[in-house]
Amino acid sequence: MELEAAVRADDTAEFLRDFMSPCFRSPSCEWGSAVAKGPLTNADRAIRQLVWKWLYLPQRASSDIIYISHRQGGANVPHMGDLCDIATVTHAFHLLTCPDRKVRTIANATLKETVGKRAARAPAPQDTIAFLNGSLENDLGRQGGEMSSLWSRAATRRLGKRIGCHWTWAEEREEMGILIPRINSDQNTVVIPPARKLLERVLKSTLRCLYAENLKKKPDQGKVFEVSSKWTASNHFLSGRSFTRFIDWRFVHRARLNCIPLNEAARFGNRDKRCRRCGYENETLPHVLCGCETHSGAWLLRHNAIQDRVVKALPPTLGTVMEDSVVLGTNSLLRPDIVITNEEVKKIIMVDVSVPFENQSAAFQAARLWKIVKYTPLADTLRGYSVEIYTLLVGALGSWDPQNELVLEAYGIGKKYTGLMRQLMVSDTFWWSRDIYTEHVMGHRQYQDTQNN
Ligand SMILES: [Zn+2]
Repeated sequence: MELEAAVRADDTAEFLRDFMSPCFRSPSCEWGSAVAKGPLTNADRAIRQLVWKWLYLPQRASSDIIYISHRQGGANVPHMGDLCDIATVTHAFHLLTCPDRKVRTIANATLKETVGKRAARAPAPQDTIAFLNGSLENDLGRQGGEMSSLWSRAATRRLGKRIGCHWTWAEEREEMGILIPRINSDQNTVVIPPARKLLERVLKSTLRCLYAENLKKKPDQGKVFEVSSKWTASNHFLSGRSFTRFIDWRFVHRARLNCIPLNEAARFGNRDKRCRRCGYENETLPHVLCGCETHSGAWLLRHNAIQDRVVKALPPTLGTVMEDSVVLGTNSLLRPDIVITNEEVKKIIMVDVSVPFENQSAAFQAARLWKIVKYTPLADTLRGYSVEIYTLLVGALGSWDPQNELVLEAYGIGKKYTGLMRQLMVSDTFWWSRDIYTEHVMGHRQYQDTQNN
């Protein structure tokens, strides 16, 4: 309203000067997009509770998952406090680099005035950059120089501590920019005035990456996420909910964050931690889904569900398909899951399907290596053929291994169907895992074994 009044009075320049200038009237007097953090903190707390309810997560679940993108397996909900910090920095950068010369001149003049009052001298461009970076060194830290303004709030002190971003000055071009380091990389993104519109997007994306990296570092809750965050297909159900039952939804988020109630997870007392079905010393989720022999029948059905999806998608021109069979013309008793033989071009493609638990990427690498060691001697006996060995891995909690793309390429399956096939395989896997877990705890059969009926 004040801005509109100023425009009507054709007094825009004076209004903008007041809007951006340091405020001396009272310590609590705020101008220029100042937002109180208290209500935002309360809003973040309320949102966190609602998202935990939506994802069926207990209170001990990591809150990082809330702020991570759907592509990586998070709820993709913004953090209000972060948005406030980003909006303040972006607003200041947009004013200082505004294409409108009048706005830009006033913004730079009021910034220079603020820095000059803080340092009690005429500031150089480097002083202005140091001020915007929240520096309290030399003259900028002198007693009595503190004052509240849009420019003091635009200091990247808080964001800088978290993601290392800071204002920069390019001497040769005489222009300012904001440098944002990429998370888990030595490279940086520098947003300069011609690309000013990108600043908000880059800061938001960097903070989302930060939350994801924080979660990966958690040894208990982050080990599945480290694998499931690698490929969008692993998290397709978060935005579309395709092929996902409500019971799977209630299971999969808890399971991926290892917040499932099992004997090993008991935090208090001297509760028996052994498996309630087979007596194994630790009843953990990896044991239930991939180690407890009681469920070996269900593991086979889970494995076959994935294998069937692949076989149905194979183009007939690829060759003769054999499933779970010894390879003809050899003495080996090994039975790869799928063997495709093309006699015309003398080529054999062997594929084995595996469903390991997502105990970080190392578990997937070990499963893949084991399959290669197992089938390489068989491949060596197939003289006269070019033999390719592949492993298709889908984690027990629906993590799609990026190296599966090599298998899909080798099959020559159309791109349109591969997208759907990935989603179906991911959903099949956690459908089965949910049924295995529930049967383990409840003791009631959760599925129909149609293959053996
Ligand atoms: Zn067991």
